[in-house]
Order: sequence, then structure tokens, then C-alpha cells
Amino acid sequence: MTNVEKTEQQWRSELTPEQYHVLRMKGTERAFSGEYDHVFEPGTYRCAGCGEELFSSEAKYDSGCGWPAFSAPASDDAIHEAADPGYGMVRTEVMCASCGGHLGHVFPDGPAPTGQRYCINSAALRLEDR
Ligand code: FE
Repeated sequence: MTNVEKTEQQWRSELTPEQYHVLRMKGTERAFSGEYDHVFEPGTYRCAGCGEELFSSEAKYDSGCGWPAFSAPASDDAIHEAADPGYGMVRTEVMCASCGGHLGHVFPDGPAPTGQRYCINSAALRLEDR
């Protein structure tokens, strides 16, 4: 399913502890703590694990939720979505389609026209300036 296959040892040595916690352990950074929460510079958001293009700054908006929010991914192929039951609700998990890294969740309360809010951990992203 994924293009990038690495051992846990490799991921551990290549990622920061925070990136590893989010991407490989499906962790969540604390709300309002991530470096991209309030960044709105133009650029391309790439996967911190594998470098794939995941989101564009054009789709980023301030949802007030404490994490970077996007109304759409860069392309439908870029991400993989799966049901994530837990914490007494069923959420939809968002992963990088290329390396399988956990990015965050998507909720159906975003702005028009998509109506989607991709709630993504800063630690899973790397912003590349244009
Ligand atoms: Fe990736």
C-alpha cells in the first residue's frame, strides 16, 4: 500500500522524537503547540517523513482548533483515509499515501466548497517556500 518502506529503527533515527510520535505512533501534538498552526505563508506542505507533497497553502485556513487545518489535500492520491474508532467516536484518520505516516484526522465541518477540515499535526509536515 505504501511506496516508502523503512524499518522502525530507520524511522527512529531519521525523525525527531515529535515527528516519530505523530507519524509512526499515530500521536497528536498538543493543541496550539505546533509550528504551523498559525503560519499562512505561501508554500507547499510536504510529508515530514517522506517528502511527498500533501497540502498547499492555498487550502490552509484558520479553523481555531489548535492544529493546521486544510480544506483539501494537494491531490486525492496524496493521502489515504481510514476509519479510526476510538475515544468513543469514529473519526476518519488521514495518512500519507506514500509512506503510511499518520497525519491527523478529517472532519466534515470545513469551509465551502469541500466542507472538509483536514486537521493535521504540524510535526507531520514540512513547509517548503515557493
Ligand atoms: Fe509520507
